[in-house]
Amino acid sequence: MPTPLIEKRVSEILLLGYSMAGEETVIAAPELNVCFDIGKAPAEVLSCDHLCLSHGHPDHAAGLHYYFTQRYFLDNTPGTCYLPEHLLEPAQDLMQVWARIEGRYTQANLVVARPGEDIPIRKDLLLRPFQVNHGVPALGFAVVEVRHKLRPEYNGLTGPQLVELKKQGQSIDYQIEIPLIAYCGDTAVGDFLDLDHVRNAKVLLLECTFFDDEHVSRARAGKHIHIHDLPKIMPRLRNPHIVLFHQTRRTFIVHAKQQLAELLSPTDRERVVLLMDRPRKPRPE
Ligand SMILES: [Zn+2]
Ligand SMILES: [Zn+2]
Repeated sequence: MPTPLIEKRVSEILLLGYSMAGEETVIAAPELNVCFDIGKAPAEVLSCDHLCLSHGHPDHAAGLHYYFTQRYFLDNTPGTCYLPEHLLEPAQDLMQVWARIEGRYTQANLVVARPGEDIPIRKDLLLRPFQVNHGVPALGFAVVEVRHKLRPEYNGLTGPQLVELKKQGQSIDYQIEIPLIAYCGDTAVGDFLDLDHVRNAKVLLLECTFFDDEHVSRARAGKHIHIHDLPKIMPRLRNPHIVLFHQTRRTFIVHAKQQLAELLSPTDRERVVLLMDRPRKPRPE
């Protein structure tokens, strides 16, 4: 059965995804042409040209070859996967092994992502990888919009006057950054939450794997977030919207929502949604 993706507009950003710990995590922002992790490569995310791979656990990475090969069949460009440095060689090997199995090599752009090194993906958009805190080396990715603003001292000048200033080598504008999304992959709580492009992102995609009281030690051992971590980290986060993902099959949405209501202040509670909380379809009249 195909993965039943959930569609959610959070702030002005459309998210399309599915996440179940240990099974599959894939979250796309199709209007930004970006997909975070690839899960089992569901059809709806294949059109995203930019794939950010957080780490090598199969629930996040299993669909990597399928992503590239399906794009080939759909007659698209190959697409580009940005991945942690230690995964470059194994991912290249994976494509080679599949070439031997399939009898044909599928082209794949595999690009190493390093913390703090920006990757431009559009004239006004860049990816900014950051280190997270998981059991294996793992990255998060922020999508940052870059806007150019005219310096206030040049307000009121005409177009030709500005062109003249530019010709003289004057810098007439300055850059502002608007972090749109920060995707944290699998991670325990860590210093990365204090990075400006993470804590100020309009939408923070944060894992929260465990909800049972007796699972705190499992969260610590696997380097995941437990719901009891949330009240402590909320004051550090300025994100207007926080989307929790990577729950287990043991966690029922209704119980998770009850726990959020009990643990968080009403204003913090308003900022938090669960990715897998399927929006109700309006009843027919
Ligand atoms: Zn996972
Ligand atoms: Zn993992």
